[in-house]
Amino acid sequence: MVKGPTPRRLKKYAMERLGLKRYVQSPGDGRPQPQIPARDLLWSLLLAQLLRLTSFLGIEVLVHSAARRDMGVNRTFGDDTLGYFTERLNPAPTREALAQMVRQAKRNKTFDECRFIGLAIDGTQAGHSTDGACCLCRPYRNADKKVVGFRHHLVMISVVGTGLSLPCDVEPYGPGDSEYAAGQRLLRRAVENLGQRFADYVVVDGEFATAPFLHTAGDLGLPVVARLKANLPDLLAQAEQRFQHQPPTGTFRAGDDRVEVWDAEDFDPWETLRWETVRVLRYRQHKPNGQIFEAYWLTNFPQRKVSSRSLFQMAKSRWEIENQGFNEAKTYHGLEHICHHHPNSLLIQWLLVFMAMTIDRLYRLRYLHRGNHPVRTAIELTRLLWLALSSPAAWDTS
Ligand SMILES: [Zn+2]
Repeated sequence: MVKGPTPRRLKKYAMERLGLKRYVQSPGDGRPQPQIPARDLLWSLLLAQLLRLTSFLGIEVLVHSAARRDMGVNRTFGDDTLGYFTERLNPAPTREALAQMVRQAKRNKTFDECRFIGLAIDGTQAGHSTDGACCLCRPYRNADKKVVGFRHHLVMISVVGTGLSLPCDVEPYGPGDSEYAAGQRLLRRAVENLGQRFADYVVVDGEFATAPFLHTAGDLGLPVVARLKANLPDLLAQAEQRFQHQPPTGTFRAGDDRVEVWDAEDFDPWETLRWETVRVLRYRQHKPNGQIFEAYWLTNFPQRKVSSRSLFQMAKSRWEIENQGFNEAKTYHGLEHICHHHPNSLLIQWLLVFMAMTIDRLYRLRYLHRGNHPVRTAIELTRLLWLALSSPAAWDTS
């Protein structure tokens, strides 16, 4: 029988099965004379995410309680120690550890039931403040152009299209930088850390459908599937004109929905795009309740390699970064909360949020779900972890 999850068992799983031991021992600690070992601080930060505890003060209270030993944490420390530690932690080892976990998942055949592995990239905002305090703070203005506050922007990359969304890296961008420049840096680094042949495609929303981004993906050997929107007015107009008066080139079912598709691969590229032709897919997805969703997508996948149906599924996989990525990170893991207002601390916190989400999914959906064991939801795991910390053994200090 598989024993129920506890923080200590989860720690053992993460260290041994996911291979995080070396990373947690030496995560890139930049403190000149550390008093508290980095491994205690780092594991506390990761476990706190899985307990949905989203403040450094909350962690301080927990490690000063009788629950500390059952957390797998050896030393007590204060919230200021976490601030000092995260300000100085080199983000590179965390990024490499995340990528290594995701590569390991592929080697363990976690994605074997899908034909194409996707990477989705998208941006979001996190951490509002009323007075700008760090170099990543971007001002935002009201209708009269008056600065009314500051917020942080980041781009995230996630494995999608596999039945298991695994966030794997984050790139922030401050004032003077842009979402799609950050997206290119992120994609380059992700391919470097995950390996050139890890993924089969990259999927993005319309704002990334610019020649420089598409060329970056091409240079990295990754075909792109991108939403076609009004920021490419000529191509969109051409596609609308051609498809609106044609019968669909295909129809199929996706769950309970009926999907009509129009698919052609001989559109002209716009001036700056170095592609020979552009393939455009239009779909109309009919829901059983009568709702219809329609969208246009562009790609450099040839029809002989990827069918209309597979292309439709790739396009749809982009939603995972919104739903299983940003929405879950914000709702359950306090992605928008500022624990410590310092640019490096923010980046480390964002990376650890996504690392915790990836650990959670591999643990619940692959490890605990072996054999006939039912899938536990994320909140069920969180409750079980809290219960283990409040068991009589945890509070027995004798
Ligand atoms: Zn800031």
